[in-house]
Amino acid sequence: MINVGVIGHKGRMGAAVCAEVEADEELDLGARIGRGDPLDAMLDSGAQVAVEFTTPDSVAENVRFCIEHGIHAVVGTTGLSSEDLDDLSRRAQSSEVGVLIAPNFALGAVLMMTFAQKAARYYDAVEIIERHHEKKFDSPSGTALRTASLMTEGRTAEWNMPAGRETVSGSRGGDSKGVHIHSVRLPGSVAHQEVIFGGVGETLTIRHDSLDRSSFMPGVLLAIKRVDTLRGVTVGLEHLLEI
Ligand code: NAP
Repeated sequence: MINVGVIGHKGRMGAAVCAEVEADEELDLGARIGRGDPLDAMLDSGAQVAVEFTTPDSVAENVRFCIEHGIHAVVGTTGLSSEDLDDLSRRAQSSEVGVLIAPNFALGAVLMMTFAQKAARYYDAVEIIERHHEKKFDSPSGTALRTASLMTEGRTAEWNMPAGRETVSGSRGGDSKGVHIHSVRLPGSVAHQEVIFGGVGETLTIRHDSLDRSSFMPGVLLAIKRVDTLRGVTVGLEHLLEI
């Protein structure tokens, strides 16, 4: 049995994770932590793995606590700053703890990022359109930022990014690693992304849609069961999948 503590248990993702952990016979839900609850409850319950789905301003402190107390962490919260990511990596490096930070736990989203990374070798122009529900705090999404980063890794040439003149500020989207990202926030959405490559007389679109939060659960459960095989900070669920 793996003893699991869920931080952010009252949220949309945290509540779904609690239900999945309770239903899984290999897992035991030892602690539920909400805003204002002491993290020491994780220690009292003997949690071996923490699952973190809170907000961009809470996540770093919660993961620091886990690293300091030898609790492996599965982190789904997006919007972590690069300074916090560097700090967590430094702290976790010298510990026996595994921290998996996954901007997206849906299998299809991980495949979308992998396919986009492969296609990036063959095109010089690409843009991302991501769409999420209206309550999402951070823009662009962690998935879009990760996709831009993966596509740009290993490229020797700059992306060809037609600029033009914006008559409405922001209409060409935000720029991450030379990739333009357009963030749509609309009720009725869950998590959706299109990566559109432009070539000579053709476009290639790679698209993923999470239609329900259940899409994230198999990835979260896999991460809970495998995070103890990692050491230090690992970014991306693909490292636990044989892709
Ligand atoms: P949500 O419904 O707003 O839930 C966040 C919960 O965290 C709320 O209950 C909030 O309490 C609580 N919280 C805030 N600070 C806390 C703290 N310090 N300690 C304990 N609990 C705290 O948001 P959500 O839709 O579940 O999403 C959570 C995060 O996961 C977001 O960053 C989102 O982008 C990300 N996400 C990731 C994936 C993925 O696959 N990686 C998928 C979906 C969502 P209050 O309501 O009192 O503020």
